[in-house]
Amino acid sequence: MIPVTKPFLPSEKEFKSYTKSIWERQWLTNNGPLVNTLELKLKEYLGLDHLLFVSNGTVALQLAIKALDLKGEIITTPFSFVATTSSIVWQGCKPVFVDIDPETFNIDASKIEAAITPQTSAILATHVYGNPCDIEAIQRIAGKHNLKVIYDAAHCFGTRYKNKSIFAYGDISTVSFHSTKLFHTIEGGAVITTDPDILKKLALMRNFGYSGVDTFSEQGINAKNCEFHAAMGLCNLGHIDDILKKRRYLSEQYRLRLKKLDVQFQKLENPEDFNYAYFPVLFETEELMHESKANLELAQIYSRRYFYPSLSALPYVDNVIMPVCDSIAKRIICLPLYHTLTISDLDLICRILLRSQNFGEKQMARAKQIGVLIAEQLKSKIKSAAVKTNGIL
Ligand SMILES: *Cc1c(COP(=O)(O)O)cnc(C)c1O
Repeated sequence: MIPVTKPFLPSEKEFKSYTKSIWERQWLTNNGPLVNTLELKLKEYLGLDHLLFVSNGTVALQLAIKALDLKGEIITTPFSFVATTSSIVWQGCKPVFVDIDPETFNIDASKIEAAITPQTSAILATHVYGNPCDIEAIQRIAGKHNLKVIYDAAHCFGTRYKNKSIFAYGDISTVSFHSTKLFHTIEGGAVITTDPDILKKLALMRNFGYSGVDTFSEQGINAKNCEFHAAMGLCNLGHIDDILKKRRYLSEQYRLRLKKLDVQFQKLENPEDFNYAYFPVLFETEELMHESKANLELAQIYSRRYFYPSLSALPYVDNVIMPVCDSIAKRIICLPLYHTLTISDLDLICRILLRSQNFGEKQMARAKQIGVLIAEQLKSKIKSAAVKTNGIL
């Protein structure tokens, strides 16, 4: 069986080398030393001044919306994981969808301004599959209309943009460290901002709003993470360069082998600074996608419709038609991609996809052939009938 993803796992021995100290200290959560070390090491690795480790990527988004005190409408993308939209609604704001770019799959910045109303307070965009949005254009629009910008950078660990970590952009960036993500802490996430006031607010909000032993200066929630998750993060951070390298290699192999497949790959902002977190392929039609997906499943290979459906079709938002996103969401799948995926498995996946396309083409050709045959037979039958009836037919 080949799943669409497998979490990276360090050896048990390595994990225990960190958790051993937890037993010694008996300090399990509440800003413990492993959480602190992980935050420091992440900042160092990513080249960031600040980063707050939180319990997951969804709560990171909720904190971001709350810390920026957003109200009214938030312009967002319909092509993302459900948490991008649900967080907006959860915080009492209204998502206003703007369609996506057909090549990068990110929010189409050229369509944002038309969606701005006096109620708009922010833009919440996802760097889809780790591929940076049109950050400059979004910043320009936000500046002009006095809007905040949040980036859902859940997929982006390791992606860089203009020589900086992608997390350094926007008023706040959020990331997920869930097990299925490229870098994970089992469950976890982070919020990143360069604004010291927002940072302070976020730090208080993460821990019930505690500003002293018995004092609360903010309305807070429990969004903190714990020593065990930090231990997993510290282990995984030691392997991250290897993980990134392997994904890049596997993605290149996919692209090479699937050159002749009639699919569209994501247009990358900058392949050199990209993290290759997923391997999406966009088929020409939904039928072709289903056919290929089913053929893979016959061999116990599992791809995933990611993202489907379009978030503008969720039952708790105003449903709007997003022509580009609606069409792409129906035709796209992510192929298996994980650290331990072997080249022979990747080969098999590619062969099945190519075969299923060839088979489809052969069937079409055969159907055409049969059609021609039937047509000819009919023609000759008509002809002979015409002869028999002396042309009166
Ligand atoms: C995974 C993901 C999230 C949510 O992160 P969790 O850590 O699972 O809560 C949010 N947005 C996107 C785009 C994601 O892929």
